[in-house]
Amino acid sequence: MIIGVPKEIKNHEYRVGMVPASVRELVSHGHTVYVETKAGAGIGFSDNDYIKAGASILGSAEEVFATAEMIVKVKEPQAVERAMLREGQILFTYLHLAPDFPQTEDLIKSKAICIAYETVTDAKGRLPLLAPMSEVAGRMSIQAGAQALEKSHGGAGVLLGGVPGVEPAKIVVLGGGVVGSNAARMAVGLRADVTILDRNIDTLRALDEEFEGKAKVVYSTEETLERHVLNADLVIGAVLIPGAAAPKLVNKNHIKNMKPGAAVVDVAIDQGGCFETSHATTHAEPTYIVDDVVHYCVANMPGAVARTSTFALNNATLPYIVKLANKGYREALLDDRGFLGGLNVIDGKVTCKEVAEAFDLEF
Ligand code: NAD
Repeated sequence: MIIGVPKEIKNHEYRVGMVPASVRELVSHGHTVYVETKAGAGIGFSDNDYIKAGASILGSAEEVFATAEMIVKVKEPQAVERAMLREGQILFTYLHLAPDFPQTEDLIKSKAICIAYETVTDAKGRLPLLAPMSEVAGRMSIQAGAQALEKSHGGAGVLLGGVPGVEPAKIVVLGGGVVGSNAARMAVGLRADVTILDRNIDTLRALDEEFEGKAKVVYSTEETLERHVLNADLVIGAVLIPGAAAPKLVNKNHIKNMKPGAAVVDVAIDQGGCFETSHATTHAEPTYIVDDVVHYCVANMPGAVARTSTFALNNATLPYIVKLANKGYREALLDDRGFLGGLNVIDGKVTCKEVAEAFDLEF
């Protein structure tokens, strides 16, 4: 198969669909890979690195889209990219169609085969191509929170791990899934005083076993949540109700009554956020202050560590890319129900129930 990797064009997006090692793997399976010039430049991969891995370099996105049978990207195709898709071409990338009608409409019109990373599931019903970004965001949330607690960012001037003779910061993690457990691992590693709240008993049991008392694991109720949040130096928002907006677990009143100079990192902001006072921010201006509480609410946290994120994403996507290339999309998708769940649009029709429902489209 001929595979194309264009340079990402969304503002400040430095990730790339395939690292040179992934290219090498596909070439070793007998496939041809075309990479747009400078596609990996933002994260330290030169055109020469791709050539050494067996790719050919093309000078423009137009050439990549015109040549490839399958396009592998990171972010949803932008309008100019959508205009370059053609009937029968495979597109494998994050799509997030449900809130994006213009994109859905263009993908329908293109008659391309559009497979979204975020709706692929594994044998246990988990989201294997979304998890790497949650791991990154979870681990980053503690770095972001540590900075927010510094005086220069408006924080109380508290060091997460304390020092001998000075007690560590109290970190409360709301939601103990992929983001929350990764946040807790980093926080425990820094020797902070960590409490994780969740509503899923099995999740609480697994966390209890993993942390062996190094993090407290608490069932989340209005009472436990309020008590822990009001006493915290840093709160990480990491809850998710799949397919729904995040529940506003922490309200304005809680924020008003938190310690002055405390910080909140709302990782769930991409689903609307779980603090009533949250609004999405960018890496250029990541924080703002409400009632003396520093808020960090960046919606695309992994973009800041684009090199790590690209490797993490590729580790997860590569086996699927290889399957698509080796078997063709029909066999690859029909062989694996979870992978089939990634198919969002084909032959001008929406095949993802949630997307069809969002826009009242035929399904
Ligand atoms: P996950 O499904 O692995 O974990 C979510 C956890 O929240 C589950 O354990 C669930 O039991 C718990 N939960 C749900 N409702 C709760 C409630 N009312 N009280 C307590 N716990 C509750 O999800 P995840 O992969 O960890 O993702 C968490 C959030 O982070 C999502 O909104 C995701 O979109 C977001 N995210 C954001 C970024 C970013 O850059 N900002 C990056 C990756 C993920």
